[in-house]
Parts: sequence; C-alpha cells; structure tokens
Amino acid sequence: MKNENEDKQTIELSLTPRNYNGDQNTFFTSTTISLGAIPQTIKAKNFSTIKWRGGSRKGKNFLYATGFTADVDTGLSIHEAQERLEQAGLNYVLAPSKSHTPEQHKFHVLLPFSHRVWSPSTYQNIAKHISGEILPGSDRAVTDTARFIYGSPDHTDITTNFGDKNIDVTKFGPLWDSSLMITTARGVEIKAVDLDIKTPIHCPFHADESPSAFVDYAKDSRNWYIHCTACDKTTFWMEKQVTDNPDSFESYWSYGTDVWEMGIKGDDFYIERIGRPKFHILTDTISKEKRDPAFGRLVRRKHISHLTRIDYLGDVQADQHYYQVNPESGIIEVHYAAIPVKDQDNNFVEDEGDAALRGNFPYAL
Ligand SMILES: [Zn+2]
Repeated sequence: MKNENEDKQTIELSLTPRNYNGDQNTFFTSTTISLGAIPQTIKAKNFSTIKWRGGSRKGKNFLYATGFTADVDTGLSIHEAQERLEQAGLNYVLAPSKSHTPEQHKFHVLLPFSHRVWSPSTYQNIAKHISGEILPGSDRAVTDTARFIYGSPDHTDITTNFGDKNIDVTKFGPLWDSSLMITTARGVEIKAVDLDIKTPIHCPFHADESPSAFVDYAKDSRNWYIHCTACDKTTFWMEKQVTDNPDSFESYWSYGTDVWEMGIKGDDFYIERIGRPKFHILTDTISKEKRDPAFGRLVRRKHISHLTRIDYLGDVQADQHYYQVNPESGIIEVHYAAIPVKDQDNNFVEDEGDAALRGNFPYAL
C-alpha cells in the first residue's frame, strides 16, 4: 500500500556495498533516503540504523541511531510478526534474510525511530524492548552499538508499512548526554552543555534545516534540556552521568562572587578560594570562546549561595574518603572511610590554618 509518508519522510542509514564477508564491513557512509527507498537500498547494501563517528563501525564511535533492525530467526513467522507490528501501530520494513526458507522463517525488521537517539544506553533499552516485547524470538546481540545487517538477496519480497507511526523513542529514557555536540544557528559546533542558554540551535533529534531548538538549564531539576518546536514542542532531558567527567568541573564550586576548589588530599579535606583566572587555567577554558560559557556553567550547576558548616563523618560503607556538597542547605559532608586515619576532628582548621577561609565563612569552626 502506497502511503504519502513513503516519499515525505526520510531516514538516515549507514551503508556499505552488499557483501557477506564480515571483515569488509568496517566503514560505512551515512546517507539520507526516503522511507519508500528503503527496500531497494537494503538489497543493494549492507546497512545499519546507527551512525558512527567518521563512519568507523565501532561501539565507541556510536553517534546516534535513527532506528533499530531486529533479526528474527526463531519463533515468529513473517505473518505473525506483521500482525504484531500492525497491532502496535508501527511503521516497519520487513525483509527476509539470506538464510530464510519457507520452513524456517528468518527475517529482518527495520523500525524507524521517532527521533534520533544519541544515548547508547537508551538505544539499548529500545532494542531490548523491541526484541523482547514487540518481536519476541529475535536475536540476543541487540545491544551491540556496532550492529549492522547484511543486505537482502535481490529477489526477496520486502514488505513495508508506512501508514502508522515511527516507534516513539522518548518513552525509553533520555536521548542525549553531556557529550552531545550541536550546531548553533550561526553554524558553530559546540558541546550542548557549553552553550549559553536559549541560543538557537539546529535540533539534534531530527534533520533540522532551520534552527528550531534551544538548550536550557532547569534549576529545579538541576539538569539540561533541549526544546524543539519542530519536534512537536518536545523537551528532551539530558541523561545525568553516573560518574563525573572532566567537564563537570568536579573540584570547582561557585561561592560568593568567586571560584573555590575543594577536595581531599591524603586524609585531609580542603577548601580554597582560587579565583576565576586560575579556574580557567586549571580547567583548560582560558580561551576567549570558552571562558564565559565555562564560568556560566559552573555557576548554574554548582553555586553554593551560603555555607553552613562542614560535617566530618566516619563511614564504614566507604572504601575511600569522599565529600558531598548540598548547595541548598550549605552543608558539606566529609565522609571518612573506616581505615585508620590520623585524628581528623579538626585537621581542616588546624592543618590548613587558612585565615582567608575563616574570615570568609559564616559558620562556627
Ligand atoms: Zn527537533
């Protein structure tokens, strides 16, 4: 059944000439085609719905995914799969694979995504959902972010449905993380989290010719988001990182009008005013373009308006010393791992003897 979406909607695929030799599939070219052109394309080419940095097919080069291709080889027949997909109201392309026989059905199902998915972990959630819930009996290696599919033989009968919806990927988790590079309306390529808020950008979640989106930071949820008017006014929240990366300015805090550094050296917690110039040197943000965005980011994310006190706590759970800052309460908790350490009650005051600090902090030491 011909549907108007076939020509209007497009999908970006990574392609390499069709071959059945695993070793030949290291480099792929990213190409945008109409949905209607998928059947002929996946006969001529090996393909992937994943775009890799430089086209180099490695998990670590994962940029984003525009869809997922399930590889069904046990259980479901083609007819059963079609019924399930139509019940779910999903657009799809179903292509029998090279080893398909009438007795044993083996086929691929390409499901275009509603939006580009930049987060590998969300991509993996979607892949698991498709192969577990929508098309049970599809393959196990679904979470492979270097995944590609062999092209179908010339005479296979490929079926499609483009009258429904692309699978809504916004339900499966954040679509981007702090490594996301975006392009501003003025054509500058920059990390989304380094940008001044509300700067117009080309939406990273659809093929955006005109800048339809902006980045902003929500103080309440302490997180970044991208809002795109062309993507049905969707707000795309950032995936919070489990571990700190160098961009998080781990040791640096905004306090008062200045920049402070905190950390643990050996057994001692320290806090020192370092000032903005030193902050830019230490975080490699000294260049003119990087200075203001970096300082703005620090203030928005890590501003302590008021310091109350420092609590020193023995912590049997901890395997190393660490500290936590609560910017709302102004309380810093220093957790000491339960290994013998020197008398820690007051070493911060006595050892550091930082007069500037005592003069500046409005709490009793
Ligand atoms: Zn968009």
